[in-house]
Amino acid sequence: MANRIRSTGTRAVILRRRDYGDADRIVTTYTPSLGKQEFIAKGIRKTSSRKAGHLELFTHSALQVADARTWPIITEAATIESFRTLRTNLATIGAANYIAELIDRFTEANDENQPLWELLLLALRELDQAADDDAAPRRALLLRWFELHLLGLTGFQPQLFHCLSCGEALEPVQNFLSLSDGGLYCPACATGNRDLEALDPDVLKVLRYLQREPWPAVYQLSVRPAIMLRMENVLHRYLLTILEYRLRSTDFLHHVQG
Ligand SMILES: [Zn+2]
Repeated sequence: MANRIRSTGTRAVILRRRDYGDADRIVTTYTPSLGKQEFIAKGIRKTSSRKAGHLELFTHSALQVADARTWPIITEAATIESFRTLRTNLATIGAANYIAELIDRFTEANDENQPLWELLLLALRELDQAADDDAAPRRALLLRWFELHLLGLTGFQPQLFHCLSCGEALEPVQNFLSLSDGGLYCPACATGNRDLEALDPDVLKVLRYLQREPWPAVYQLSVRPAIMLRMENVLHRYLLTILEYRLRSTDFLHHVQG
C-alpha cells in the first residue's frame, strides 16, 4: 500500500454527538485507555449508513479508527452493549445524560483512567436494570454514589472523615462544610468562619458510606428522602464549585498562553 494509515482499535462509550458538514457527525467518547476522545463518523447521517446504530448516545461499542489530520475517522463500529432498556424511560435517559455529561466535563483527552471507565459502564448497566418507575430511589442512590466515586477518581474527593484544619477524626455531631475547601471542619475549628454550612451527622454518615463502599454494598440501602435531598443538594453545589474552578483555570491558561 502506498499510503499507509495508522489504525487503532478501542472500546468506547458515546458521551455526546454533534452534526458536522452535510452528513458527518463528531462523536465525543470515553475510552478505557485513551481517556476522552473525539472521532468523526463520516456519512453517518445518510440513511444508508451502517454505522449509525452502533454510535447512538450511551452505546458501548468496539471501534476501529484511522488517523487523520483533524479528527480520527471511525472506519468500523460494532455494538457491545446497547443499553436498550435504559432508553425506554425518560427518567433513565435523563440520568444517563447526566452521567455522560459529568464524565465529559471531568476528563481530558489521552488521560487513561481505567477505574473511571469501569465506573461509567457500571452506572449505565445499573440504569439499564433500574428503568422501572418504581426504581426511582435506587436511581437516585446510584447518582449520588456515582458522583462521589467520580470525584474520588478525578482527584476531587471531599474530605469527610477528618477536620480540614486540626486533622482530628470528625465526631458524630453537627460538623461544618466548606464546598470551596472540599471538606469539613470540626465545631471548634469552625468557630468564626462564616463561609461554612452546618451538616447533620445522619447526612454525613450516608455520604461517608457511599464514598467508601462499592455499589453492591450500597444499592439496597434505604435512605430517608430528606437525607437524599440534602446529599443531592450538597453534591450538586460541590460539583458546580469544581467545574467553575476548572473553567476559570482553563480560561486563565488560555489567557496566559494566548
Ligand atoms: Zn478541627
